[in-house]
Amino acid sequence: MTALSDLTLGRPLVFRNATVLTMDDAHRVEHGADVLVSGDRISAVGQSLQVPEGTAEIDGTGGIVMPGMIDTHRHMWQTAMRGYGADWTLTQYFVWNYLQWGKSFRPQDIYAGNLLSGIEAIDAGVTTTVDWSHNLQTIDHAEAAADALQEVPGRFVLAYGNIQAAPWEWSAAPEFRDFVARRFSGGNDMLGFQMAFDVPGNPEFPEKAAFEVARDLNVPVTTHAGVWKVTTDDGIRLMHEHGFMTPSSIYVHAASLSADSYHRIAATGGSASLSTESEQSAGQGYPPTWKLREHGIGVSLSMDTSVWWSADLFSAMRATLNADRAREHLEAHASDETVTHHKLRAEQVVDWATRGGASALGLDSLTGSLEPGKKADVVLIKNDASPVMFPLLNPYGHVVFQAQRGDVHTVVVNGRAVKYDHRLVGTDLARARQVVSETVEYLKGELGPQAWHQGMHPEIPETRVLDNPYTYTYTQE
Ligand SMILES: [Zn+2]
Repeated sequence: MTALSDLTLGRPLVFRNATVLTMDDAHRVEHGADVLVSGDRISAVGQSLQVPEGTAEIDGTGGIVMPGMIDTHRHMWQTAMRGYGADWTLTQYFVWNYLQWGKSFRPQDIYAGNLLSGIEAIDAGVTTTVDWSHNLQTIDHAEAAADALQEVPGRFVLAYGNIQAAPWEWSAAPEFRDFVARRFSGGNDMLGFQMAFDVPGNPEFPEKAAFEVARDLNVPVTTHAGVWKVTTDDGIRLMHEHGFMTPSSIYVHAASLSADSYHRIAATGGSASLSTESEQSAGQGYPPTWKLREHGIGVSLSMDTSVWWSADLFSAMRATLNADRAREHLEAHASDETVTHHKLRAEQVVDWATRGGASALGLDSLTGSLEPGKKADVVLIKNDASPVMFPLLNPYGHVVFQAQRGDVHTVVVNGRAVKYDHRLVGTDLARARQVVSETVEYLKGELGPQAWHQGMHPEIPETRVLDNPYTYTYTQE
């Protein structure tokens, strides 16, 4: 067996004898195949590859090798509050973060959340994550966010935002431009940049100035669109009429929108980022998978925030496939019909979790598939101790409905093994635990015990128990 030290020397490495989901244009699946990584690139995919002397070998027998997964929207800073809002609605989230406590987060708290979230991502085989960082109240917060992302050996995109100020305000600040120039010039594919803000639909369109900054800096805009009663068709129409919808625009959720908005998105080549666990639980609108397919709009997947939900794309793929099918059955039954063939397949959601993300981020020439010449972002799903890894009959179905993050055996990012044999390599989880615990203690102190408890336990509306026409009687002989 390959020793860990063999993988940390920059030697070539080869995955041997796995089921390989290439996710290339033909979605080629190779059985008993190898994937060779040399430097930061994939150099070959095929059977019984000849490899350079000294290549480290990773036995993929019984496992699945696939491209690293890509999460196109995650509020990484909120990972410091993992699970706190499990029972929130979107309204409660807005009140807690936007109105009450978001402004309490200091730069070191942003850093702590990002550090843990980044480590969690690579551990789960998510090799690229967009940090939808919308609490950058000062440049110090932004520096802290970027510092954490650069410390974790994953691929990230900092999507810069600030819910404590209007986008036309923060984007106009000279120190914002200075930050971007200082940390994001020179085209680094390990740390990209976007601007992140929402367009609620004010007819004056004050966001125009922020879009002009994005155009000037030549950076994409990512925006929560189609969020029930928050961002509507008006926002999409204003963006379109002013010429700010582009192929690099990402519409997060894109749920509560009319056909007119989907036409505008499709016509301008933008894509949607679906966070199905989020949409189903918080209430942005039903995850619009079937509408996006009808309109030919590109789809990527995302996890939104682990203040509520899981942060691995196995959960995202599973939730997304389930949501699409649940709706199809529910609608059919309402008109007394039966669905005999599912439209959405496991293979398609694996595509969304890999190529869909790469395409949305303009990284499709670099990542999203396992092809010679691409950057080596590679995941091996294999768990010899698990009764769930065999039989391996339908690899796409296995990834979506059988596998989970604990089955991620090896993760390679940019040619570097960052996880091997189920253990992280070169990341300091103990330090992440320490800084997150400091943040939690600090926030608990800021809120006080009562607000802390109330925030986690919102009131439960009363459920009326129906009158039952039948009477249950139980008599003992
Ligand atoms: Zn979001």
